[in-house]
Amino acid sequence: MSRRKLVVGNWKMNGMRAHLAEIEAIDRIADAHPAVEVGLCLPATLVMAASDKQGGAFIGGQDCHMNANGAHTGCLSAQMLVEAGATWVIVGHSERRQDQGETDAHIAAKALAARAAGLKVILCVGESLDVRDAGNAEAVVSAQLLASLPDGAAADWLAIAYEPIWAIGTGRIPTMEAVAMMHSALRAALAGRIGAEADKMRILYGGSMNGDNATELMAIADVDGGLVGGASLTAAKFEPVIAAAG
Ligand code: PEP
Repeated sequence: MSRRKLVVGNWKMNGMRAHLAEIEAIDRIADAHPAVEVGLCLPATLVMAASDKQGGAFIGGQDCHMNANGAHTGCLSAQMLVEAGATWVIVGHSERRQDQGETDAHIAAKALAARAAGLKVILCVGESLDVRDAGNAEAVVSAQLLASLPDGAAADWLAIAYEPIWAIGTGRIPTMEAVAMMHSALRAALAGRIGAEADKMRILYGGSMNGDNATELMAIADVDGGLVGGASLTAAKFEPVIAAAG
């Protein structure tokens, strides 16, 4: 099964209007690699300005609330992101699972809310270092994936990002064998839930992906792209990651 590679930058809490020129430079790189689907999940304050541009990378948010509106100070609904011009959203990033206490059930509900509003979704899962060292990372992350997976999950609106927590922002990555084993375990878990649709669903790797390791990571059979933090903040660093995907 050939799946179009998906490479998405997660800018986290980085980026001001002064960085719009950097976003435009990333757009030009995306245009130069039409075989790859490229996106940038930006701070909400930049989504509207960045999504006004033509073509290039799609623009996404980094989280949405599970409700459409209401008394949720500081939160954004999926509909608000759509109105601002986002077409994708990340749910379940480990920084939100940790910092905001988000559970698998919250994440499944957020994914469904995003879908209902017309957003595509990147659903993040990943293990802590303790879990990795205990030797049961595949079982734990597969269970986390199945618990976070929304009803009706399908490849045309949902992608998975496997992000070992201990690899995010640290410069450390698992061995290529460990990544291959995890992605294959996650695809098998998906197949048990959604059948043949699992073959079409993209499973991204995230965690210190950069221009030095992207080619090797992208060559792994079940790695269908990347969710990229630090190395997506400038066009110069992001370009080799996008190029590695095709
Ligand atoms: C991320 O936050 O999703 C991420 C993968 O970050 P980094 O690439 O900086 O490790």
